[in-house]
Amino acid sequence: MAIIDELTNIVGNKYCSDKDYINVAYSRTIDPCLPEIIPKLVVRPESTEQVIEIINIANKYKTPILPRGGGCGIMGGSKPISEDVIVVDMTRMDKILDINEKDYTVTVECGLSWSRLNAVLFEKGYYTGNMGPGSGLNAVIGGGLSHHSGGGGGCGKYGKCTENCIGLEVVLGTGECITFGSQQNKYVEKPFVRLGLGPDLMGIFLGDNGTMGIKTKATMKIYPKPPYFSGKTFFIEDQPYENVQNMVMELHKMGWSQGLGIYDYFFTPPPAVMGVTTDHLIKSWGDILGGVIFYVHEAFSETVLEDNSETIEKIAKKYTTRELGPSAEEGNITDWYYGEQGHWQVYHYGFSVLGPNYYATSSEMIVPVSKMAEILHKLDEWEEEKNDELFEADAESGASHIVMLPHNSCYIGCGLSATNDEDLKEDVIKLWREQLELMSKLGGVLYMAGQIGSQVLVDSKIYTEPFYSFFKRVKKLVDPNNLISPGKFRF
Ligand SMILES: Cc1cc2nc3c(=O)[nH]c(=O)nc-3n(C[C@H](O)[C@H](O)[C@H](O)COP(=O)(O)OP(=O)(O)OC[C@H]3O[C@@H](n4cnc5c(N)ncnc54)[C@H](O)[C@@H]3O)c2cc1C
Repeated sequence: MAIIDELTNIVGNKYCSDKDYINVAYSRTIDPCLPEIIPKLVVRPESTEQVIEIINIANKYKTPILPRGGGCGIMGGSKPISEDVIVVDMTRMDKILDINEKDYTVTVECGLSWSRLNAVLFEKGYYTGNMGPGSGLNAVIGGGLSHHSGGGGGCGKYGKCTENCIGLEVVLGTGECITFGSQQNKYVEKPFVRLGLGPDLMGIFLGDNGTMGIKTKATMKIYPKPPYFSGKTFFIEDQPYENVQNMVMELHKMGWSQGLGIYDYFFTPPPAVMGVTTDHLIKSWGDILGGVIFYVHEAFSETVLEDNSETIEKIAKKYTTRELGPSAEEGNITDWYYGEQGHWQVYHYGFSVLGPNYYATSSEMIVPVSKMAEILHKLDEWEEEKNDELFEADAESGASHIVMLPHNSCYIGCGLSATNDEDLKEDVIKLWREQLELMSKLGGVLYMAGQIGSQVLVDSKIYTEPFYSFFKRVKKLVDPNNLISPGKFRF
């Protein structure tokens, strides 16, 4: 029997395709820069049992598999790198299996989108804390957990989505299905905690960029959503990098000691602000030349909210030029950002300002806040040094957004924007790789590496040798035939 027949027997005719006119959709993601290769086969399972059978068939025919969630990755994560691959589209596995209001957890299938999950939780007065990536309208739980995603909201208070994951069911490349977390104890009825019962083996699958297995079910913490929130937006004219760094470091300190309830703080550096204002996207920002920081904090009582507002505002005023607002129309975009339905649009303007003839590449990295200003300056210097090459490639470099994380770090959203010209893409990819290397060598931690980033980590010798050698051995153990996402991390 041919492989297509065997796959069709598992999922049915409707959910398996070897037709180019269907599979072409799976050659693409939001990133048009990396090559678009039409996969030979696409399959859409609806259960863990079907995923197991698909993996068994892939082993039988020695055909690689590429798991795909919402397809919103911006570093090539779910784009095939050869046509000889079975793309496993996980989006039919989108059920909410259990909302446990006693132990504050939710268990879902990994093809469920962040926005649908949180829409259902909101109705019950909960949220996932970190609400996934800024692409959460389409991005799914499996994609977020494979990428250590965050940025759709809640990063400042809850960290990355992986930090809130406490249970995970994974199908390995061997076809074995294992549940990690408290359910490693066969007597535990429902998942409730991640650590214990030996080492944290679940961690192998978090942030793995879809290389160590296929995630089928996940359990995440849920939190009661505080009813009160407030947010402010400030403009910073002088030394925006240093001022934001100092402001956030002071807030981190206060946050530890006083629990200020800061849900998020985002910094938009001057060039990105200019992009927004040139396009008149936020009209009230029209006259500003500098950076913008906004924050949102939340509380369970109005008194606590007011007290915290006063403390945060006092600190913000020390480091900023003036407040924008109070209303969204007057420049305080936090109301728009922290709306009832979450804030999935927050980065979309970044992509929108580019228009149809341009595209963006991403080199996002986590850095300690204490090094944020230094790294942003080095990125600017790199742009100056590379001026001629960037000009030749018809591209620009820069940071678009900096999202603060709890405790001590933030992530710098940066990359290149380029003209959508086929002939220049190779030059852009070369510069993109150089920028990923630069950011890594400046001490950045790449988290959604995808295809290009994971290869730079290896090619540019960013990993320590003992770590990479161990990583390869672990991969061999969970996927002996190297069938899942071959090519990433140079596996
Ligand atoms: C407008 C926009 C805003 C964005 N904002 C953010 C942001 O704020 N923060 C952020 O982190 N990212 C952001 N991203 C990048 C991206 O959307 C996220 O990384 C997202 O989590 C990817 O999820 P996805 O479901 O689209 O996954 P995909 O792109 O489909 O896949 C991502 C990776 O996960 C693997 N994968 C997917 N599902 C599974 C599974 N079930 N089992 C095993 N592996 C799997 C894939 O093989 C691939 O390696 C943004 C992208 C866009 C377009």
